[in-house]
Amino acid sequence: MFTLRRPIASILRKNLHKNVTALSIGHTRSLSSIPSDDFDHELTEKTSPITVFTEDEQMTRDAVRQWAREELQPIVRDMDNEAKLRPEILQALFDQGFMGMEIPAEYNGSELSFTSACLAVEEISRVDPSTAILVDIHNTLNNNAVRFWGSEDLQKQWLPRLATDTASSFCLSEADSGSDAFAMKTTATASPDGSYYTINGTKLWISNAKEAGVFLLFANADPSKGYKGITAFMVDANTEGIHVGKPENKLGLKASSTCPLTFENVQVDASQVLGEVGLGYKYCINILNEGRIGIAAQQIGIAKGCLYDIALPYMMERKQFGSAIGDFQGMQHQYAQMATEIHAAEVMMYNACRLKEAGLPFVKEASMVKLFSSQVSERTASKTIEWLGGIGFTKDLMAEKMYRDCKVGSIYEGSSNIQLQTIAKLISAEYK
Ligand SMILES: Cc1cc2nc3c(=O)[nH]c(=O)nc-3n(C[C@H](O)[C@H](O)[C@H](O)COP(=O)(O)OP(=O)(O)OC[C@H]3O[C@@H](n4cnc5c(N)ncnc54)[C@H](O)[C@@H]3O)c2cc1C
Repeated sequence: MFTLRRPIASILRKNLHKNVTALSIGHTRSLSSIPSDDFDHELTEKTSPITVFTEDEQMTRDAVRQWAREELQPIVRDMDNEAKLRPEILQALFDQGFMGMEIPAEYNGSELSFTSACLAVEEISRVDPSTAILVDIHNTLNNNAVRFWGSEDLQKQWLPRLATDTASSFCLSEADSGSDAFAMKTTATASPDGSYYTINGTKLWISNAKEAGVFLLFANADPSKGYKGITAFMVDANTEGIHVGKPENKLGLKASSTCPLTFENVQVDASQVLGEVGLGYKYCINILNEGRIGIAAQQIGIAKGCLYDIALPYMMERKQFGSAIGDFQGMQHQYAQMATEIHAAEVMMYNACRLKEAGLPFVKEASMVKLFSSQVSERTASKTIEWLGGIGFTKDLMAEKMYRDCKVGSIYEGSSNIQLQTIAKLISAEYK
């Protein structure tokens, strides 16, 4: 049977690292990034560095990097100008297996790790954070919510489509419920025989709504119970009564459609309830905790794209006063500082991934890295524009786009204040 794992593997199989050393731990980690001469003792699980990945993860990262640079980069500026994701990019994301990162092979997914999904988001963000947010929301929020809480029937119905041809949106926010997400007004009223629900309400800020074939929707099925009435539904985008509004005219992430979404007497079969009625709030909290690591991956990708793909090549080339500007100590200290902050953020992100994969508590770490990486991306994007001088302020290079695209990192999937609240709550609980 054809599985989408193959495209990922096939792209770079020929370039696969040669220095792979097997570790005597649960899964093999590739050591290709470590020069073999410097490495004369066997790694154990205890000593394995957090920046060393499994063979699958490294292959994924390399494959996504190659695709993003060869296929995506040439049209990123046009997509930003047109404020539209090109259909061929969406198709390629499916063809490459990037839309079913953790979906099991039996459902035509790539059956990779959460770390792999985050590495994919990071690599795409280095080139285009707009495309990356589609991949991120689809994989880390929607696919995983179906995998974790969907019934077997719901999984059979949606996972193969999510992996191969159907983009998705995560529909939570409303006009009066942003940070206070559970104050939502959208209702889902059960039919007398309980066989279907009628949905009414308007969601706001829904990413990828133009491209989505399915909406993971949160609506209140029993407002008398407050947030304990919130229920999650899989809603086919073609259902009668759904209206996707005009995309917002945004500062950044322009190629990502962010739309209002109105539900007017939309009938959804009871079989499309995700998990249990009234537990939507729990699923929402849990999946957003994970999703924050994905947003961190996006922000780290932006920071790396700025420093390593835009700023440093330019600084080593551009000469003033007879020297490359990157050789002036005043510049060296600045990019050394940003490289250090980026490294701190990536270590935090990979560690949050590993904590999650190990089934250990990771909520505090996820909030911390989402908060920190959005600060690092802003600082790096801003510095990159300065380092490029006048050209940094133009659209000739991508720095100005990264500067615009990074800003939302401190707003969506929980603003920075909300992350600080979560971190403080978890820290203070240890002292009570
Ligand atoms: C580009 C983009 C894409 C988005 N995509 C999606 C999507 O796909 N699906 C979806 O459901 N939503 C999406 N959102 C919505 C996003 O999650 C919300 O914008 C975010 O949660 C903040 O809500 P708000 O805009 O209502 O701001 P508010 O909640 O009104 O917050 C405004 C300010 O008040 C602060 N604040 C609020 N409450 C507190 C508090 N208790 N303590 C301290 N400070 C506080 C916030 O930190 C913020 O600075 C998207 C938003 C954007 C901009």
